[in-house]
Amino acid sequence: MKQVEIVTTALLLAWVVVVILLERRFPYRKGLPFFREGFWTDLVLYTFVQSFLLKILIFDYIILPLDQHFAFSKLHLVSDWPVWVQVLFFLITHDFYIYWFHRWQHHSPVLWRTHEAHHSGKQVDWLAGSRSHAVEILINQTIEFAPIILLGADPVVVPIKALIDAVWGIYIHANIDVKSGRLQYFFNGPEMHLWHHADHQEVFHANFSTKFAFWDWLFGTAYFPGHKPLKWGLYYKYPKDYFLQHVFSVKRFDERELGRRYPLLRRYYLLLPVLERRVRSFVKRRRAPGVPSVPADAAASEVSV
Ligand SMILES: [Zn+2]
Ligand SMILES: [Zn+2]
Repeated sequence: MKQVEIVTTALLLAWVVVVILLERRFPYRKGLPFFREGFWTDLVLYTFVQSFLLKILIFDYIILPLDQHFAFSKLHLVSDWPVWVQVLFFLITHDFYIYWFHRWQHHSPVLWRTHEAHHSGKQVDWLAGSRSHAVEILINQTIEFAPIILLGADPVVVPIKALIDAVWGIYIHANIDVKSGRLQYFFNGPEMHLWHHADHQEVFHANFSTKFAFWDWLFGTAYFPGHKPLKWGLYYKYPKDYFLQHVFSVKRFDERELGRRYPLLRRYYLLLPVLERRVRSFVKRRRAPGVPSVPADAAASEVSV
């Protein structure tokens, strides 16, 4: 791993720790469990597996061949700019793009299918931002990183930009009761983005900004009341499983009905909760030896698909 990647990874891990501590100390919604529903799906499948595979696809199979074919990066169009100017330039231009694409996703029934996964969590926290449909990530990250490489930016711009994305993504979804005052007109944060995840009709087409809140204020889509939402997530039923979430974006189905019809699917579907309960009961046993815990299988049998 290159030095810049070691530094950015260390900074990201430190930021995760800080945000988790702040969530415990100053919660936006009190009583939100750390291991909330979908925690492992978001961490393992969305954060690690999907990101890893899409990174290879985007960089090695899309951007690199594009650059080899057109050789744009050899023109060094932005190479002479100071690194901080390059970072700022790509930060603002991509944020402008993402505002409009995000807004389009909320208006277009087809594009909504690539975005609804992101809104499906009813317990929004630091990890919730990682839940994004693979196609959404493929489009957005290709459009984000291709210009950086094709315009011949300094190689450190990619990891720096990726770090800023991750840090900001964690921040705007964090369950922290931030009160940033007038700064909220400029920088986006949990105050407006947690509303974006609310199941309230008045925000179905509002608060599209990611990093800079001024896009929402400028283009008339800001929603910033003085109170907190009551309902979260989608207003319709949505699958809990990573793979079924992706199938659902192509073909609608009733998750419970599918489980009843296909016993193999039911067994697979129950696998994750069983593992999760096994881990929990193991931790409980280690903490309090002698205290009987609920057998994992018995607990899992309560779950029906
Ligand atoms: Zn959205
Ligand atoms: Zn979000």
